[in-house]
Amino acid sequence: MKPFAYVNPANEKDAVAALAPEFERALPIGGGQDLLARMKDYITQPDRLVNVKNALESTVTSLDGGLKIGAAMKMADLAEHADVKRLYPAFAEAAIEVGTPQIRNQGTVGGNLNQRPRCWYFRNEEFHCFKKGGNTCFSITGENQFHAIFGGGPSFIVHPSSLAVPSVAYRATFRLVGPKGERLVPASEYFTLPTRNVRVENVLAPDELLTHVILPAPGNLKSGHYEVRYKTSHDWPIAFATVLLAMERTKGSTVGSARVVMGAVAPIPWRSQAAEKALAGKTITEATAAAAAEAALQGARPLSENAYKIQVAKTAVKRAILRAAGIQTV
Ligand SMILES: Cc1cc2nc3c(=O)[nH]c(=O)nc-3n(C[C@H](O)[C@H](O)[C@H](O)COP(=O)(O)OP(=O)(O)OC[C@H]3O[C@@H](n4cnc5c(N)ncnc54)[C@H](O)[C@@H]3O)c2cc1C
Repeated sequence: MKPFAYVNPANEKDAVAALAPEFERALPIGGGQDLLARMKDYITQPDRLVNVKNALESTVTSLDGGLKIGAAMKMADLAEHADVKRLYPAFAEAAIEVGTPQIRNQGTVGGNLNQRPRCWYFRNEEFHCFKKGGNTCFSITGENQFHAIFGGGPSFIVHPSSLAVPSVAYRATFRLVGPKGERLVPASEYFTLPTRNVRVENVLAPDELLTHVILPAPGNLKSGHYEVRYKTSHDWPIAFATVLLAMERTKGSTVGSARVVMGAVAPIPWRSQAAEKALAGKTITEATAAAAAEAALQGARPLSENAYKIQVAKTAVKRAILRAAGIQTV
């Protein structure tokens, strides 16, 4: 591993001051599970690491009927937090499904949302792909069974964060802080397609930190979250979905509006407005859930080895809808 400096600031301001405007020269470190692995594999070689665990908040506070979650909070604490479970069950479910208890006990919310893609070409120093400043995506003609079926090109990674998907579904806002002060960015605008800047997955500048996830008052939502993994492995899911249903006030069994967001299918959390439209005005049954799942996967463009993900994602969407409606699924 290349030698690096380690800074341990006690507050947000000093943490930002220790970062640098150049790409990957100084990097924040939370639990270090993603970053240290990338450094050991010579994928990322910063001059300086900035520990954010003593600089950022690690608690949940109430805000305008919603919640404000500190980025230094451990995934394990998030998954068990009573208010998060009560107000945003799909957010807590996504957290509890991450890895293993040890991984959740080490990983932070900020690290989870900003972790880099799991693409095996990106993670191998031998492959100088778009994401490392190269001029190709090896997955196009290579091993692409876990890659994108939506929104790919020029890189075909899928976003690795489980929390990113319910963040978009619940209309979370991320608080970012940098040398010029703070800015609030909706989760739906934070994650970016490779066409914007293929080297990165979001709008965070190199000298900014993500400090909080702000979840708005949830209102009267029903929620469902469903992840499909290879066997019962602790590995990242093959496809998953968060579904939120707002029921009509007068006819409680009819969907007024829906929010359907899929994970592990695209370089960003992938919202399906077609599925949301298919659910509006319907009573949830096996048939209406299946029709919405069908709509969600319309337009998918699989690579040579990942067409199977279409069916997997359909199943995730359908079961998330049924769960949101309180209908038993496997
Ligand atoms: C076997 C295994 C299975 C896993 N399964 C899943 C899964 O199913 N779903 C899932 O979501 N994750 C999964 N993970 C990843 C896990 O959730 C990690 O906790 C997460 O990737 C990184 O958290 P961390 O705090 O250790 O991040 P770090 O390694 O410290 O940081 C990750 C990245 O985020 C940046 N960063 C950290 N904090 C901030 C901040 N506050 N602001 C801006 N940038 C920041 C760092 O610079 C770094 O680039 C899995 C991990 C393993 C090992």
